[in-house]
Amino acid sequence: MQKKKLIVFTAPSGAGKTTIVKHLLKKFSFLGFSISATTRQKRDHETDGLDYYFISLDQFREKLENKAFVEWEEVYDNQYYGTLKSEVERVWDLGKHIIFDIDVKGAVSIKNAYPEDTLVIFVKPPSPEILFERLRNRKTESAESLQKRIARAARELTFEDRFDAVLVNNVLEETLIKAENLVLEFLNK
Ligand code: 5GP
Repeated sequence: MQKKKLIVFTAPSGAGKTTIVKHLLKKFSFLGFSISATTRQKRDHETDGLDYYFISLDQFREKLENKAFVEWEEVYDNQYYGTLKSEVERVWDLGKHIIFDIDVKGAVSIKNAYPEDTLVIFVKPPSPEILFERLRNRKTESAESLQKRIARAARELTFEDRFDAVLVNNVLEETLIKAENLVLEFLNK
């Protein structure tokens, strides 16, 4: 098989990148999802070991000490997220290209770690207002945590220029096709 690549979808929380990543995983069996480790609480619809590896703060700190992460961030106060080196190896051992759903700083770190082999796609909402509305409608958060997410999303929108491609998520069906094409173009280069 050709050299294995890394495809990173990044965006402010609520821009729809998770939907896009899930679609691509269903469509393209040559992609494998990088399951992140996180200290945040599992949401009802999520499965440990599939959506995330849900671990305690102590376990996260231990992995940090052992230099087990390719990249990690304290995305929200006391909520840590990171890509384990073992995860990159796991997906590559399956013979697949890796697809990531991570925050903007993590995306910069992956690009720096594997500059030649990484495509970073920044998913952008049609407008900041639409993004904030989507976050409010999720109803998975407390009011305080929602405010934090909105403030963070506003900051993350300023990262757009740092990445390889920008995908405006307006009409979902169109966005999904554009995402498929970006992936195929990159892998066929
Ligand atoms: P959520 O809690 O909504 O699942 O994710 C919050 C944010 O953390 C999202 O932007 C998500 O993409 C990001 N994230 C998830 N996993 C990782 C990771 O391993 N590293 C980094 N840097 N961000 C992550």
